[in-house]
Amino acid sequence: MTTTDCLFCKIVAGDIPAAKVHETATTFAFRDIGPKAAVHVLVIPKAHHADVAALANADPALAGEVLTAAAAVAEAEGLLDGGFRVIFNTGPYAGQEVFHVHAHVLGGEPLGPMISK
Ligand code: AMP
Ligand code: ZN
Repeated sequence: MTTTDCLFCKIVAGDIPAAKVHETATTFAFRDIGPKAAVHVLVIPKAHHADVAALANADPALAGEVLTAAAAVAEAEGLLDGGFRVIFNTGPYAGQEVFHVHAHVLGGEPLGPMISK
């Protein structure tokens, strides 16, 4: 995977439209196209890293900025009182489909059990 054929790099570049909800110099947040909860926002670093482990190892400061952005999204979306969930699907067992690291920020309604089994 290179940045030129990465879906989320194309969203950062503005080549594919997205519903932006938050942006910093190093992060971008936009609504998931197939929401799994009343609020479902994806938070990504603008720089391409394949998954959260790669990001954490390559640039821990940027990993922290992604979490700070996720917290800002949760507050802006009114999720702090009811609570919310942040998920980084990583690899095949987790069903990761897009290999540009992204935090799912989910909330706005009861979210049910953490995993399906
Ligand atoms: P994951 O399975 O953790 O890799 O999650 C990928 C997420 O990206 C899924 O929840 C998709 O609904 C979402 N997604 C895929 N394409 C787009 C897009 N163009 N805009 C917004 N979200 C997208
Ligand atoms: Zn990318």
